[in-house]
Amino acid sequence: MSRKQKRMLVRIISSAIFMVILALVPVTGLVRLALYLAVYLLIGGDILLKAARNIVHGQVFDECFLMAIATVGAMAIAIWDRSGDYTEAVAVMLFYQTGELFQAIAVGRSRKNISALMDIRPDWANIEKDGQIVQVSPEEVAVGSEIIVRAGEKVPIDGVVTEGSTTLDTSALTGESLPREVTVGDDIISGCINMTGLVRIRTTRDFGQSTVSRILDLVENASSRKSRSEDFIARFARVYTPAVCLGALALAVLPPLARMIMGLNPVWHDWIYRALTFLVISCPCALVISIPLGFFAGIGGASKAGILVKGSNYLEGLSKVDTVVFDKTGTLTRGVFEVQGIHHSSMPEERLLELAALAESASNHPISKSLRKAYGHSVDIDRVRDIEEIGGNGVTAVVDGHAVACGNERLMKRLGISCIGCRSVGTIIHVAVDGEYAGHIVISDVVKDNSRKAVDELKNAGVSDIVMLTGDSGPVARDVASRLGITSVHSGLLPADKVDRVEALLHERKKGKLLAFVGDGINDAPVLSRSDIGIAMGAMGSDAAIEAADVVIMDDDPLRIPLAMRISRKCMSIVYQNIVFAIGVKLICLLLGALGVANMWLAIFADVGVMVLAVMNATRALFVNRL
Ligand code: ADP
Ligand code: MG
Repeated sequence: MSRKQKRMLVRIISSAIFMVILALVPVTGLVRLALYLAVYLLIGGDILLKAARNIVHGQVFDECFLMAIATVGAMAIAIWDRSGDYTEAVAVMLFYQTGELFQAIAVGRSRKNISALMDIRPDWANIEKDGQIVQVSPEEVAVGSEIIVRAGEKVPIDGVVTEGSTTLDTSALTGESLPREVTVGDDIISGCINMTGLVRIRTTRDFGQSTVSRILDLVENASSRKSRSEDFIARFARVYTPAVCLGALALAVLPPLARMIMGLNPVWHDWIYRALTFLVISCPCALVISIPLGFFAGIGGASKAGILVKGSNYLEGLSKVDTVVFDKTGTLTRGVFEVQGIHHSSMPEERLLELAALAESASNHPISKSLRKAYGHSVDIDRVRDIEEIGGNGVTAVVDGHAVACGNERLMKRLGISCIGCRSVGTIIHVAVDGEYAGHIVISDVVKDNSRKAVDELKNAGVSDIVMLTGDSGPVARDVASRLGITSVHSGLLPADKVDRVEALLHERKKGKLLAFVGDGINDAPVLSRSDIGIAMGAMGSDAAIEAADVVIMDDDPLRIPLAMRISRKCMSIVYQNIVFAIGVKLICLLLGALGVANMWLAIFADVGVMVLAVMNATRALFVNRL
């Protein structure tokens, strides 16, 4: 509880005690009025002030206004009647404030829950100073400094291992505990837990730019992007509150006037009381709070499963996806290519591989990484210059003074070099040296273990179109697609062609349905941002993907996609339950109030009760990761 909330709690408890005492002590007349007024102001003074301030600012209709009018009105009636029955006004205020406090605590708690669920915020970083290890706050560590992470500690900042090797537990980031081995030269990202050995790390980012900070930022700010349901409620409240006030006014004035015309006793007093009750009933607290809270909890639950959703709108959108477009390499396949063979080489095969690996030395593309790995030696970057990467084609560079081109047929065509085809099914990397064809390297990738299952689950979840896009050649694409049960495949696409394809699919999609694109962030950032919902996979460490995507999947398990959709649907059903429940109870109470059956006590109980139940229901969304 924050200090403000504690102060509120003290106010609530002391006013409650005050009221009990007043009920027991028989004071009457002006003294009684003065004492009740004192309690009333103690518990509701801030509400009256807020209401007054809003009126000055021209924003008349809000909850404070409703509560202020209703309770001041009830006070006025009691004074007018000389009944001395001031309890009701004070009690209504008391319950209202109790509800508000409960709601503030629930929101604060779920915010904290999310950070706790994502137990990745490091508290310190170890640096070495005069031979001693000292703890400093991670913010203070400059880029390029050396930090030490001992076994059992969290990696506080992104960097490269310079000494030691260890096993990392990435479960806090990915929701799954697959240990990862790292050793000297490997990238290491913050948020992982160092399980076994001591490592020294040279930081490559400052704390604010490190994976941990960015993820926490993203999750904590997610609720600022509003979903349609939230917008709906905001718009609803704007019309609703004034409408209710008008209704109350009508209820207070019209029936008595009608009775007067009919020559009956107008009983003003009764109708005004009913109108005031009507105001209390109509207070929209439950609705206003439980819906954003539902989304908030859903986003928190999803992040625990390693799925970061950047806003309520995307969480809502996921439930409406009926077209899922996949990128192939690194998304459905592992993106780890093995060299199958080197053909037609005009030089020793190792030399061809060396030239290719050197030319590819600067690229992040899975193909480049795999070629470097196959080459097996560390790459001396001084031997390479003028590297140019052409998306969807390959790379060109000058290696040891020779112009090397390394890529697909399209690249060779571009350079006017005729190349020799290959009968093996695999990704063919043609290499040309000084403008002459020098042979090709056949590499092949394997489908991820869970890809088939993910595709099946998506189909079962009602996704009607599953499409695969790839820059790779037709035979490879068709081979992968048939293994996965995907019938719609487009191959040989440049990054820009992928955007065109997705745009065409966006035109075809049914009304009210959405298209999601799943990629690994390499060569597909434009598509990620163009689609309705861009989902980036395996994003640990990849900046472009975290930037461009709407949903970020921390590890590279394709099964997270159907899981994300299930989480979204569960969350939406909770939100709808709350909307229907809250509006339903409100309508019933409004009716009872208008008929004169409900009094103000019932009204405030209904309001606070619905709110508590709705909040409790909303927090269920926090546990969506068990789906
Ligand atoms: P995908 O759509 O499968 O993710 P990309 O669009 O990244 O593939 O690349 C498409 C094709 O372009 C690759 O299959 C490869 O033939 C070629 N290519 C792209 N980048 C490189 C590279 N760095 N080195 C060699 N070839 C490349
Ligand atoms: Mg790709």
